[in-house]
Amino acid sequence: MLRFENVSQHYGSFRALNGVNLEARDGELVVLLGANGAGKSSIFLTASGLNRASGGSIRFRNQELVGMKPSQIVELGVVLCPEGRKLFPQMSVLQNLMLGAYVHRGDKAGNQRKLDEVYSLFPILAERSGQAAGSLSGGQQQMVAIARALMGRPQTLLLDEPSLGLAPLVVKQVFEVIQRINRAGTTVLLAEQNAYAALKIAHRAYVIESGRIVMEGAPDALMNNTAVRKAYIGA
Ligand code: ATP
Repeated sequence: MLRFENVSQHYGSFRALNGVNLEARDGELVVLLGANGAGKSSIFLTASGLNRASGGSIRFRNQELVGMKPSQIVELGVVLCPEGRKLFPQMSVLQNLMLGAYVHRGDKAGNQRKLDEVYSLFPILAERSGQAAGSLSGGQQQMVAIARALMGRPQTLLLDEPSLGLAPLVVKQVFEVIQRINRAGTTVLLAEQNAYAALKIAHRAYVIESGRIVMEGAPDALMNNTAVRKAYIGA
C-alpha cells in the first residue's frame, strides 16, 4: 500500500499540494483526475523523491518515503513513468530500457528476465531494440517509457499522463497495456486527462483541484457525477 497522509509540497512560496490524502492498495488500479496544473505531477514527483514534501507523510509498506533518495524509492518498488516520457532520444531502445534497471545493475540474470518480459509485453520494442528511441513514433516512445519503468521492477507504478498527445487508436493500446500490467499484479496509480477511458479501467479514482483532493470514489460514481462529467468528460 502506498499512502499519502496530509502531504503538502511547495515550489518556493507556491503551495502545489495542500494536505493530500490518497492511497493505492496492493493490486489496485487507481486513477487521479485533474485539470492542467492541478497537482498530479507534483504528487508523483513527491512520491518519487524528486520533489520534497514540505509536510505530511508518504508511506509505502510502512516505510516513510519522505526524505529518501529517488534511487532508494525505486529499490523499494515505487517507480515513476514521467509525463512527457523523458527518453534519451539518441540512445537505443535497449539502452533506454536498461537505464530503468539501473538500481538492479548487479543482477544481470534478473534484468535479462525482466527484459524478456517487457519484450513479450511490447513485441515492437524487441524488433526496434537497436534503433534510436527518438526515431520511434509517439506511441512507441510511450511504450519505451512504460517498459523502462517496468525494468525498475515496480510493485507500484506511477504513470503520469501516458496517453498525452497520442492518436485515439494508440491511446486504446496504451490503456490495454496498463490494464495488463495491473492484472499481472502491479499496483498502478494513473494520472490522466483522458478521464472516460481511465475511469473505465480504474478500481477507484480521485479528483484533484488546486493541490487538494476534492473527490474520491468508485469509477461509476465519478462517471455519473455531474460536476465530474462537466469538468473532465464532457457531454
Ligand atoms: P499538468 O497536466 O499540466 O502537468 P499537473 O496536474 O500535473 O498538470 P503539476 O505539474 O503538479 O500539475 O503543477 C501543479 C502546480 O504547480 C501548477 O500550478 C504548476 O504551475 C506549478 N508548478 C509545477 N512545477 C513547478 C515548478 N518547477 N516551479 C514552480 N511551479 C511549478
